[in-house]
Amino acid sequence: MRVVVQKYGGSSVADVDKIRRVAERIARSRAEGVAVCAVVSAMGTTTNELVALAREVSKRPDRRELDMLISVGERITMALLAMCLKDLGVPARSLTGSQSGIVTDEAHADARVVEVRPQRLREVLEAGEVAIVAGFQGVSRAREVTTLGRGGSDTTAVVLGAALGAEHVEILSDVDGVWSADPRVVSEAHHLPAMTLDEALALARGGAKVLFEDAVRYARDQGVEIVAASTFGPGAGTRLTRGVSTTGRVVGVTGDAQLAAVTLGPEDAGLDEVVACGGRVRLRFGDLLLVDLRNAHGGLPESVTSEPAAVVTAAGSALGEQPLVVAAATRALRAAGIEVLAQGASADQAWWRVPADRLDDAVCAAHAALV
Ligand code: ADP
Ligand code: ASP
Ligand code: MG
Repeated sequence: MRVVVQKYGGSSVADVDKIRRVAERIARSRAEGVAVCAVVSAMGTTTNELVALAREVSKRPDRRELDMLISVGERITMALLAMCLKDLGVPARSLTGSQSGIVTDEAHADARVVEVRPQRLREVLEAGEVAIVAGFQGVSRAREVTTLGRGGSDTTAVVLGAALGAEHVEILSDVDGVWSADPRVVSEAHHLPAMTLDEALALARGGAKVLFEDAVRYARDQGVEIVAASTFGPGAGTRLTRGVSTTGRVVGVTGDAQLAAVTLGPEDAGLDEVVACGGRVRLRFGDLLLVDLRNAHGGLPESVTSEPAAVVTAAGSALGEQPLVVAAATRALRAAGIEVLAQGASADQAWWRVPADRLDDAVCAAHAALV
C-alpha cells in the first residue's frame, strides 16, 4: 500500500468552502492510487479563540483542562472534512489523536510524542477509506487528552508518516513551502526549492512558523521526507530531506517576538517556574534565559524576573563557525540603526536580540546582509 500523509493547516480549512476544496483535493490524490491519511488543523483562528476563552475564565488556566478545550478545534475540522468526502462518494473516517494511536508524555499543552500505535489507522487505510486525523493532539500514558504545542499538527503528520511508512509527508499551507524569510515580512525573500532538515530545524527553532520545530526534528531523526507546499496555490513547494547541506550558505533569516528574557535568582531560582508554566528555554547564558512563551498560556508567574524579548535568527550550515559572516550581519544591523542587545552563534545558527519594535526591520537588514 502506497501511503501519503497530507497535513492541512488552519488557513487551508478556515471556512466550509475551503474544507470542501480540501476534500476535492484529497479525492484527486486518492484517484491517483495512493492511500491518504489527512491531518487537519483547527479552522482559521479557532485555537486562538479557544485559548482566549480559557483566559477569560482563568488568568492561568489549568493545563489539563486547557487541553480538553483546545483539542476540540481540530475535531471540528476532521468531522466536517469527513462529511464532505463522503458526500463526494469517497469513503472516509475521522479519528482523534488518541484513536490514531498517538501516545505522549504528560506535559499538558506542550506534550512530546513517545509512541505511535498505528494499527487502527492502518486498518482504515487498508479498507480503502481516507483516514482523517485531528492534528495537534494525543493521549498521555496517564490516559489524558494532551496537545502537542502550538503548531503541533505538523508533528502529528510527521509521526504518522513515520509510523505508516508513508512515501512522504506533505505540509500544506497558505505559502509555497519555505522561503529565505517570511515573505510577508521581507519582500526580497526567495523561494527555496529544497533544503536539508537540519537547515529547516535551525529556521524553525528561530520561530519561522511555516514548520514546527518538533515536527522537523522528528522527521530528521526518523528519516521522514517532508514536502512543504501551498494547498490551493501554484508552485512545487520545498522538498526537505536528510543529508548534508551542499550550499554552505545562510539559507534563511527569521524573527521571533514571543520570547521573554528571564533573569534567574541564586541557585537557578525561577527555573522550575519557567518550565512548569510551559516556557521552552531556547538559550541560556549565565543567569539569563531566553524563553519561548508560545505554550505558556497565562505567561510567567510574577515571582520570575522577566521582560519581553525579540530575537532575529539566521540559519545556515555551520554558520556558528563563520565569525566574519556573523560580524558582517551585526554591522549591517547597527548600520540600519538597530540596537543589538545581545548576540551569539553556534552550530547552524546565529542570533541577535533586538528591540521588539524593530524586529521586522532587523529581519530585513539581516536578510539583506546574509542571504
Ligand atoms: P498553517 O496554519 O498552515 O500551519 P502557519 O501560519 O503555521 O500555517 O505557517 C505559514 C506561515 O508561516 C506563512 O503564512 C508565513 O507568513 C509564515 N512564515 C514564516 N517564516 C516563513 C518562511 N521562512 N517561509 C515561508 N513562510 C514563512
Ligand atoms: N491549531 C493548533 C494551533 O493553532 C495546531 C496547528 O495548527 O498546528 O497551533
Ligand atoms: Mg502551522
